[in-house]
Amino acid sequence: MIFSQQFIQELKSRIDVVELVGSYVTLTRAGSRMRALCPFHQEKTASFYISPETGLFHCFGCHAAGDIISFVQQIENLDFNQAIRFLAEKFSVPLEFEQGDIVDRSERDRLLEALDAACVYFSEAMDQSKETKNYLEGRGISPETTAALRIGYAPESGLISYLKGKGFNRDLMEKAGLLNDQGKEKFRNRLMFPIQDLYGKVVGFGGRILRKDTKAPKYLNSPATPVFEKKRMLYGLNLTRDFIRKTGFVVLVEGYMDFAALYQHGVVNVAAALGTSFTENHAILLKRFAKKIYLCFDADSAGMAAALRSFKVLAPGGLFVYGVTLPGGEDPDSFVKTRGKEDFMMLLDKAVEIPVFLSNLTLKPEIIGGLTLEEKLDRINTVLDVISVIPDRIRQSYYVKDLSVRLSVPERNIATQLHARTRRPFQKREEDSRPETPLDSLKEAEKGILLLLARQPNLKPQIRENKEWLERLPVYPFLVEMLNIEYERVSDVIHFFSDGLNSFLTLREQEVSADADVVMRALKRQAVQQELGEVKKKLEAFQDGLNEDERNDLLKRKEVLAKEFHRL
Ligand SMILES: [Zn+2]
Repeated sequence: MIFSQQFIQELKSRIDVVELVGSYVTLTRAGSRMRALCPFHQEKTASFYISPETGLFHCFGCHAAGDIISFVQQIENLDFNQAIRFLAEKFSVPLEFEQGDIVDRSERDRLLEALDAACVYFSEAMDQSKETKNYLEGRGISPETTAALRIGYAPESGLISYLKGKGFNRDLMEKAGLLNDQGKEKFRNRLMFPIQDLYGKVVGFGGRILRKDTKAPKYLNSPATPVFEKKRMLYGLNLTRDFIRKTGFVVLVEGYMDFAALYQHGVVNVAAALGTSFTENHAILLKRFAKKIYLCFDADSAGMAAALRSFKVLAPGGLFVYGVTLPGGEDPDSFVKTRGKEDFMMLLDKAVEIPVFLSNLTLKPEIIGGLTLEEKLDRINTVLDVISVIPDRIRQSYYVKDLSVRLSVPERNIATQLHARTRRPFQKREEDSRPETPLDSLKEAEKGILLLLARQPNLKPQIRENKEWLERLPVYPFLVEMLNIEYERVSDVIHFFSDGLNSFLTLREQEVSADADVVMRALKRQAVQQELGEVKKKLEAFQDGLNEDERNDLLKRKEVLAKEFHRL
C-alpha cells in the first residue's frame, strides 16, 4: 500500500523528533540541538545530534542521518512503509492511503506470513505428537510456557504441502529458510522454537533433535534470510523486553531450554543467544532496554572463554556486565528447576562484574602463592585485557584497586600496565612522525611548553599559529601529538600519547610551570638561535662554493636573525 505524500508530511509534522528519539536514547541539550550516544554505533562520547526544528538527526561518528522515518527504519529494522505504519501506530495518527492504489505487499511481508504459517503448522503437529509432549513434560516445560513460546514439532514431512495449500510457493519457502539444499524440509523430527522479532513476528526457527540416535546436529537454526539476521537477534526478547526495560537488567543465557526454564519460573528478565557469539549489534540492541547484563554461562573453561568474549563486545558500549556463578555442574535450566526463582535471584545479587569474576577464578588468594611469576603475569594480563575495554576511567580504577589489593602490588604500577593497553586501536600511529628525540634531552622551555599545553588546551591555537618556527624545534613532534587529541583535562587522555610523552606528563604533572608568554619567548629565542647557528655553519662550510647571491641571502638572513635574537 502506498501512503500519500500529504499523509507522510502530516505524520512528520505531528511527531516530535525529541519525543521519538528520546524513547530510544537519553538526550541532553546542546545549544539549539539535542545530543545523545549514537544508537547506531558504539561510542563513548555523544556524537549523535537531533535538531528539534528540522526534525533531522545526524551522527558525526558513523554518519547515520535522516528524518524520523529513516530513524525508525534503521532502529527498528523496518522498510519505509513499515516505518510509517509503526510511527502512525505509536503516535496514534490514523493511516491514509493514496486513492486507487493496488495492494502491493512487500516480499518481507510474504516471508513473515510463510514463517508464521509454518509456526502454526509445527504447533498443530505437536498436538498430535505424543513423543514431543512427553519430552517437554520430562524437561519440565509446562503447557503454558509451550504456548507462550509457541514451541512446536517438525515431523518427518508435511510442511511443504501444508504451505503450498496456504498459497506459498517453494521459492518463498526457500527464501524463508525452511528448505535444505536439496529442496526438502530443513527441519525434521525436531522440537521447534520459533525465533520472534521484538514485535513477536516469527522470523526464523531453532530446532532441537528429539532422538539421540541420529547423527544430525543437536541444534539447527534457520539460515540468514531477508528477515532473519542472527547478529542482531536475541531469543525471547519479544516476551521479556518490557520487564527488562522496567528493571534495567537482563539475564543472558545460552539456549532455548535455559530461556524456557527461567521464564517459566518467573525470571522474566531473560534473553538467549542464538548459538552465535555476541556482536556489537547485540550490544546496541540490549542497550535500548537495559544497562546491566548478567551472563549465565557454563562454569567450564569454554563457558568462561565465552563470557570473556561477550564482555569484550558488550562492555565498550557502556553496559555493565556481570558474571553469574552457578554451583558446579548446574546450568540455569537445572538450577531454577531444583532451587526456584528466589535462589536464582540471590545468585544475581551475588554476581560481580566480569573483571572481578575473572580474578575470583584465576587469582584466588589461596592459589596466588603457588603460581610462578610467569603464570601470575599471564593471568594479570588477561584481567587487564578485560579491564581495558571498560570505557569509564573511574570504573577502571576501581578494578585496578581490586587487583592491587589482591596482588599486593602498588595501584600505580597496575595502572601503568593498564594504560599501555588502553590506547585507542583506531588511532593510527604514524611511525615516521614519532618523536625521535628523547624528552630528557629537550631544553627547559620545550619541556615547559608541553606541561603548559597539558594544562591549558586553549593554548592550541597559539601553537598552531606559530607552527612555522616551532616545527624547527625538537619538541614539535610531541606538540603535534597533543594537538591531535581533544581534551579538557590531559589526565583523561594521557594514555593516548606515546610512551615517552605519557610518562613525561605523568611524572612532571605536579610541576609548576611558567607563564605561557615567557615560555613562548624562550622557545622563539631557541628557534632563532638554532637557525642562526645553521646559517653561520652554512656560511663557513660552503664559503667557496657559494655564488654571490646565495652568500648575500645568507648574510642578510643572519642579520635579521641576529637582530631578532637581541630583541627577544
Ligand atoms: Zn553513529
